[in-house]
Amino acid sequence: MLANPFETDFLPPLQVIDAPFLTEAQVRFSILRADLSHSALSGNKYYKLKYNLLAAKKQQYSTLLTFGGAYSNHLYATAAAGKLYGFQTIGIVRGEKHEPLNATLRFATDCGMKIVYMDREKYRQKTATSVINELKEHLGEFYLIPEGGSNELAVLGCQELGAIIKSYSPDYVGLAVGTGGTMAGIIKASDKNCQIIGFSSLKGGTFLENEIEKFLDAATIYPKWLINNDFHFGGYAKSNQELFNFINDFEQTYRIPLEPIYTGKMMYGFFELIKKGFFSPHTHLLAVHTGGLQGKQSLFK
Ligand SMILES: *Cc1c(COP(=O)(O)O)cnc(C)c1O
Repeated sequence: MLANPFETDFLPPLQVIDAPFLTEAQVRFSILRADLSHSALSGNKYYKLKYNLLAAKKQQYSTLLTFGGAYSNHLYATAAAGKLYGFQTIGIVRGEKHEPLNATLRFATDCGMKIVYMDREKYRQKTATSVINELKEHLGEFYLIPEGGSNELAVLGCQELGAIIKSYSPDYVGLAVGTGGTMAGIIKASDKNCQIIGFSSLKGGTFLENEIEKFLDAATIYPKWLINNDFHFGGYAKSNQELFNFINDFEQTYRIPLEPIYTGKMMYGFFELIKKGFFSPHTHLLAVHTGGLQGKQSLFK
């Protein structure tokens, strides 16, 4: 294992985007390329795992266990982190085994991750002590990282991402939201005058607000933040031709890859809000590219 896996943190670059509709809206639009941080441990997943890995190491765990769907970016990143930093990894995957393995699970397996399938009914109970104890009985001791990777230590890591964002002085920050841990960290680290907009990638109602609030301190005054639910395209992992066309156009115009689960929806929504005049002139809008490009081959047909 490396002495300190995170001795030299990568500083994601800011890429400024030009387009006629941005000039017309008189806004400055930039993209924080956190997707470039690492080929396998990319985007927000790096920040979410960082302090979990350090805690696991400090507590002398040799195995990490986590949960995810068969295309999960979190599972993929955890497998990569295990290989890079010397942990055994176990991925509990929702549903049944499908052969041949998809690209995500093949990568995870190649990294040494042991894949264990769990039926959907039990998977829903995965946070129950009885289920965790049963896993321990069968698989031995492990450091547990929740599905999607959002816990207090993940939020702490994402505060570092938030500090980088703050250093670029945006007036608005837009990011894709799944479980809300990344957004919570960014809210905590942002300037009070900044506004954070989370584009929900799933059909959530108000549960995401609650998830985020769990990580915030009730007595602290944070910057304004909100969840936008208008661009989930039918729900998690749902998409349509319009979204695919947008992503293709975006890639051709700006040479920046997006994927249809998170960053494509966020960018589509962000652009729509600009076109609708949501942002006042002379503001700096920053979109966070949270990575997630690994699942693309399987999902982008
Ligand atoms: C996991 C992921 C998210 C969601 O992060 P949360 O902390 O769960 O909200 C957003 N974008 C990408 C690309 C992701 O892989």
